[in-house]
Amino acid sequence: MPARKKHLLILGGTAEAAALVAATGDRFGARLTVTTSLAGRTLTPRAGLGQLRIGGFGGAAGLAGWLQTEKVDMVVDATHPFAGTISANARQACDTTGISRLILTRPSWDAGPDDRWREVADFAAAASALSGIGSRVFLSVGSQKLQAFSQLRGVHLVVRMIDAPQEPLPLVSYSVILGRGPFTEDAELGLLRREKIDAVLSRNSGGVSTYAKIVAARRLALPVVMIAPPPIEIGPCTIDQEGALQWISEKLAVAAT
Ligand code: NAP
Repeated sequence: MPARKKHLLILGGTAEAAALVAATGDRFGARLTVTTSLAGRTLTPRAGLGQLRIGGFGGAAGLAGWLQTEKVDMVVDATHPFAGTISANARQACDTTGISRLILTRPSWDAGPDDRWREVADFAAAASALSGIGSRVFLSVGSQKLQAFSQLRGVHLVVRMIDAPQEPLPLVSYSVILGRGPFTEDAELGLLRREKIDAVLSRNSGGVSTYAKIVAARRLALPVVMIAPPPIEIGPCTIDQEGALQWISEKLAVAAT
């Protein structure tokens, strides 16, 4: 009887997760079934994610149950560095079920000599830091994080979102521009100039896909309030796709012996 195909769950929502899905198809072909899981934050997921499931699992226990029901053999947590809850849930669920888990993350950015960063620990500190640093601030942090800026007065926030908000944002003064990355440096430069931005708020997300705005801010000598990344979840971790492919390959080899 042919061996059962191994089942990989990729916790996604990032460009790195999407790229890994494509790469696993090229590298392992029919030896592997790949499911991508998304939280469902955007109306239209990016194309090419293979077999998709969308929406929360119901905490770590729900995820553990799902892994067992769907006979998942291995999990790659390729979620955004600031998506701490799902990463903690993945660790707990994999510990409970004994399923192997790898974290695919990104090295965070470092300030260069021409950067004007003010590094802060969290969103609350970022809101305090923005007062007095600029009058038109560009940010793209996701609607769920905007509550932290609800009391901010005297600052107009230019908020970039993937989908138009269904309800007014919880902000005193704001405008919305729509767009889905990655963005080029020239496009970001044009945006910052066009919108007369005098400061940028960013999370230190690392990676390449959102770095262009940081380069554009540097070129315009704008101050950047930079939120530090949370600690990476405990467990095996890689910062590149090849490392993730190697890990999957090793798991497949072990399963075949
Ligand atoms: P979070 O705070 O860590 O997760 C909140 C809840 O959303 C989780 O407890 C889980 O619900 C559900 N969830 C999150 N990611 C999921 C996934 N990939 N598949 C299924 N359910 C998921 O995460 P977040 O910051 O809201 O981010 C949500 C998603 O957007 C992540 O997949 C992340 O990769 C992506 N993303 C986030 C950011 C960011 O700035 N945080 C930026 C770009 C992309 P249950 O507990 O019910 O399972």
